[in-house]
Amino acid sequence: MDAILHPLTSIKVGLNNSLAGKEPWQIVTLTTTSVLLLVWLHDFVTQEESVTQRAKKTVFRLAKLIPSIRRKIEAELQSVSETFEKETIEKTKHLKYTTVLPAGKLSEEDILSLVKENLKLGDYDWKGGLVSGAVYYHNPDLIRLITEVYGMTSYTNPLHPDLFPGLCKMEAEVVRMACNLFHGDENTSGTMTSGGTESILMACKAYRDYARETKGIRKPEIVVPATAHSAFDKAGQFLRLRVRSVPVDPVTTKVNIRAMKRAINCNTIMLVGSAPNFPYGTMDDIDQISALGVKYKIPVHVDGCLGGFLTAFMEDAGYPVPLCDFRLPGVTSISADTHKYGFAPKGSSVILYRDIIYRHHQYTVTTDWPGGVYGSPTVGGSRAGGNIAVCWAAMLSFGKEGYVQATRDIIHTTRYIEKGLRRMKGIFIFGQPVTSVVALGSNDFDIYRLGSALNTLGWNLNVLQFPSGIHICVTHVHTQQGVADKFLNDVQNSVAEILKEPDVPVEGKMAIYGVAQSLPDRSIVTEFTRLFLDSMYYTPKQS
Ligand SMILES: *Cc1c(COP(=O)(O)O)cnc(C)c1O
Repeated sequence: MDAILHPLTSIKVGLNNSLAGKEPWQIVTLTTTSVLLLVWLHDFVTQEESVTQRAKKTVFRLAKLIPSIRRKIEAELQSVSETFEKETIEKTKHLKYTTVLPAGKLSEEDILSLVKENLKLGDYDWKGGLVSGAVYYHNPDLIRLITEVYGMTSYTNPLHPDLFPGLCKMEAEVVRMACNLFHGDENTSGTMTSGGTESILMACKAYRDYARETKGIRKPEIVVPATAHSAFDKAGQFLRLRVRSVPVDPVTTKVNIRAMKRAINCNTIMLVGSAPNFPYGTMDDIDQISALGVKYKIPVHVDGCLGGFLTAFMEDAGYPVPLCDFRLPGVTSISADTHKYGFAPKGSSVILYRDIIYRHHQYTVTTDWPGGVYGSPTVGGSRAGGNIAVCWAAMLSFGKEGYVQATRDIIHTTRYIEKGLRRMKGIFIFGQPVTSVVALGSNDFDIYRLGSALNTLGWNLNVLQFPSGIHICVTHVHTQQGVADKFLNDVQNSVAEILKEPDVPVEGKMAIYGVAQSLPDRSIVTEFTRLFLDSMYYTPKQS
């Protein structure tokens, strides 16, 4: 008899039996308590930080309550702070700091000479191509044009379209040209922003508000490859999104699509793929992420901040590249930095959407402010019209022909460097670089030693962690005659030197990165980093 009871009926009977002796008030109390407990549990589990992350933090926080540990950490932080400060003092050499607003006016001549003095600081030869990324193009003719355009537009503000309709038109044109580059149609739209980070922030904001309105999602989550730019973590912190980081394949360094699929749940508001990512310059399988987006009806953002203005021209430059734009049906937005390979001065990027509904959710509108009905498209209120104008001017001054040529030069140089590095013993390249970044590791020695050796030769490369690596981001500056060969030579010689004693540990500044990776308590790394940021704002104490 029991065996053929419906499961629900058996639950009912079981429950009734267990509550049989209880009074009504007890049943009410039990019910309420268990519901509240469940709600609490749900809240506890679904916060932005996972339970394990929070548990870890708590353990370390408790450990730091022990006075001896606390004192040790404080002493360490104090010494690190002093080191950072000393480095800043060293870098600014003998120059005087202006710490109080000058009582009188400075002459134009004095101001210009002070600017020159400040610009002279810094030892790296970035114009000569010894620095990874950072400066994407350097050409006196372009600078002259940009300076002239900025001069004419420096005091404009597109927050006031009635005053500066021409600046708004220029912004609309930049956005439309970009939509066309990435194969959008007439429904595709977007805005300019101040940079890649803001573009990403805006996409996250748009999708969060879209998901809240159309699907009622209250605990939004974004699913991003572990290699996606840290701007997504920043967006998570700013916008209270849970960031689900998906591991990448250790060999290809592309996101594991099956793991990405598993990370999707009913709170997922966006999927992310990088084209390419910053650490390794490899590209996630955007077509497969797009397919996931279509299947689960979740927006897909392609982060083309770094590579967008290369991938858009690579086909024409003779370097085929996988599809990573609006031609893929699931791709709903793309960020692309005009201030990287668009060769505009720093301060501009575009965020593009397949459908205008997403842009609507990017906007911030307040209707009841005494200052008036206020609508703004991006983070800023007042915005620099000059940044729009110079971006627009850079795009027109290159034209498609100019960008295709620059792309050809940059990809050619990168492939040349990649080929040279692959021939060397003792080092390996992470995955298959698609655009302009080549990342190096080693199974035979601590790769930070190579970074350190190159640093003494004047090179400034990027440092990667988990696992240790270094990368060079090739820009137009590196396409100058002799730069790639100098790089290959310097790597070759340094590696040969290191391989004489492969087991020596890394010393000097680079050692910090090794230590930082090995610390289980990430809050200490956070504290160190805060102190480093503090040192950027160093001025001498007033006596
Ligand atoms: C540079 C970069 C960003 C962020 O852009 P910013 O302009 O530095 O704010 C985002 N994604 C990738 C892959 C990048 O390289």
